[in-house]
Amino acid sequence: MSPRGRLVLRIALGTVLLGYLLCMPRNLFRGVPYSTVVVDRGGQLLGARIADDGQWRFPPSDTVPEKYAKALVRFEDKRFRYHPGVDLLSIGRAVRDNLREGRVTSGGSTITMQVIRLSRQRERTLWQKAVEAVLATRLELRYSKRKILALYASHAPFGGNVVGLEAASWRYFGRPPGELSWAESATLAVLPNAPSSIHPGRGREELLSKRNRLLENLLRHGEISPSVYEEAITEPLPEAPVPLPSHARHLVETQKKGVRTVLDIDLALQKRVEAVTDRFSDDLALSGAADMAAVVMELSGGGVVAYVGNTSPGRERTGSEVDIARSPRSTGSILKPFLYCAALQDGKILPETLLPDVPVNLGGFTPQNFDMQFHGAVPAAEALSRSLNVPAVHLLRMYGVPRFHQLLKDCGLTTLTMDASHYGLSLILGGAEGTLLDITRAYAGMVMQPRGFPLDDPVALWYTYEALGRVNRPDEIDWKLVPSVRKAAWKTGTSYGFRDAWAVGVTPDYAIGVWCGNADGHGVPALTGAKAAGPVLFALLNLLPEGEKWFPEPSGGIYADVCTDSGMLKSLECPTYKSVLLPAKAMETAVCPYHKGGSFVLPPAMEWYYKPYHPEYAPPVSVSEVPLLEFIYPESGSVIYLPRQLDGSAGEAVFRIAHRDPGATVWWHLDGEYCGETRLVHEMGFAPDPGAHTLVAVDDKGNTAAVRFSVAEGSSR
Ligand SMILES: [Zn+2]
Repeated sequence: MSPRGRLVLRIALGTVLLGYLLCMPRNLFRGVPYSTVVVDRGGQLLGARIADDGQWRFPPSDTVPEKYAKALVRFEDKRFRYHPGVDLLSIGRAVRDNLREGRVTSGGSTITMQVIRLSRQRERTLWQKAVEAVLATRLELRYSKRKILALYASHAPFGGNVVGLEAASWRYFGRPPGELSWAESATLAVLPNAPSSIHPGRGREELLSKRNRLLENLLRHGEISPSVYEEAITEPLPEAPVPLPSHARHLVETQKKGVRTVLDIDLALQKRVEAVTDRFSDDLALSGAADMAAVVMELSGGGVVAYVGNTSPGRERTGSEVDIARSPRSTGSILKPFLYCAALQDGKILPETLLPDVPVNLGGFTPQNFDMQFHGAVPAAEALSRSLNVPAVHLLRMYGVPRFHQLLKDCGLTTLTMDASHYGLSLILGGAEGTLLDITRAYAGMVMQPRGFPLDDPVALWYTYEALGRVNRPDEIDWKLVPSVRKAAWKTGTSYGFRDAWAVGVTPDYAIGVWCGNADGHGVPALTGAKAAGPVLFALLNLLPEGEKWFPEPSGGIYADVCTDSGMLKSLECPTYKSVLLPAKAMETAVCPYHKGGSFVLPPAMEWYYKPYHPEYAPPVSVSEVPLLEFIYPESGSVIYLPRQLDGSAGEAVFRIAHRDPGATVWWHLDGEYCGETRLVHEMGFAPDPGAHTLVAVDDKGNTAAVRFSVAEGSSR
């Protein structure tokens, strides 16, 4: 051959070789839409959504179970393990058979060639078959046999809109491919050969005999034992496709499309949590609360291990598709622990500091306790345990609304979209909205201490758990349903109008959040956090492994003397006190102001409400430095709104004074004009004109109290 001829030959050979090397696309199944598949932490299927082209086609898996692999290779391509992509022996036999029959009857395609065909979806002509054969040898150069088998299993048709082994295994047998029997594996091995025969009534006899012939073949080659074979051939074929599992369905809905996502969910726990919430929800539905959501977090890993966005879809009802765990809802009292902890950590209060529980009017905002009573003064921890609203408002006023607003955001609440001023002091009483997921995470954050979590003083946190551990258990709970009650630091919340019932709690190992109500927001009489959500929380807690019983007492902190009556730092006049473990900033808190001349004396307004609950409280009437009379309503400098009467005119506001001497008489003067006198109960109704006013009270000993206030223009609330 001439040098020129050799060059041409080399170029030609080079071009062919290059063409061969480049003939295969990087991703064989590029552009193929897959189902959205969501699995739990152990890889178990939680749920799936159909692919964009309407097929149940799970994202490719790299593994093929042993039984299916053996059955498939035996049925489709018995020399698969040894050939280079094409099987010359098999092709020879196919050509011979086809010539004999005079038409195309047998394929002679290897599994590798079928992978190529599935990826190209071309017509089945002789030319295409030749191209497939070349590409198959190329595929063998790129991938292991195992990978090629996996590609085949993931993309083979299994009848109807079922594509791939995994989808087929779930649709026909309700189990993952790894759990299939020999008979089931053999059925799926023969099915892609004639996928239409799976449907009941059409070619099922043929499918059965194909399966049994394959089982016999496996027996003959020693892949299965005679006893396995005998049992396998008696197994019936699958009936109509079964629905796929559907657990944590609201989470499944929001996962990335077309891929397999692994969640922290623990399927076994998830199933039990769903059973409990369904059971409680059925009962609550009778009283008009149709929807329930629950979140369980494992604090060691920080993952959500069970998630119920809403209870069972089985019941015909609207709203069950709404994921309440991620819907913003009025928070009720559920955020109070964060304020208590923040005020402790910040040196605003000590754990048992007395907080005022007397009427307040803050620009028309007049908070009430749930029982509509005032208690005068309540230790902060008890105010939290009993979820009193008025002390919480006083505490928020002390801490500052903007700071608390920012703190809640730093705790992970994503739904505080308005400025702090929009919420005002109602922020602590449900004026803001939060999601169950965010709030449960925030409770978990106290224990887990993620980076940037704003509450980190171990002593303040410990006192918060202690106060929440004392929260009264729901009174009307049917304890027969919840056999063993474990301790949790938990809090309930009930929103205005009984629209939302919350219970959220933490143990050293778990955080649990429960919400009950109606997705459409309508209220249900007497739907309270304690009665509706509390029992669910304890039922869920009982499902969890029992770990640490309680939070260990913190090792840090400081010790200081605290007045036993006021819970504040001891003054020189406090007669009884004890040394108490306190947060680092405790020394910045105020010294007890209530011990005067050896007596514990509250200011008149606090005393007025405190006394009936504390028969032991009996200070001398006259104590220097403590005024004898004080206005309860209105507060000095406040703007008041007169109630509007039915005819539209302004009604009277009731003004109130507390007098420390029960025998005193009080004379009232509005803007210098005498209005009347009161004894025992010092209350008087007025309807002053809009504008600024001064009210003065004088008692029979000449003691006075005065208050300046304004009546808002033409308004009523
Ligand atoms: Zn004191």
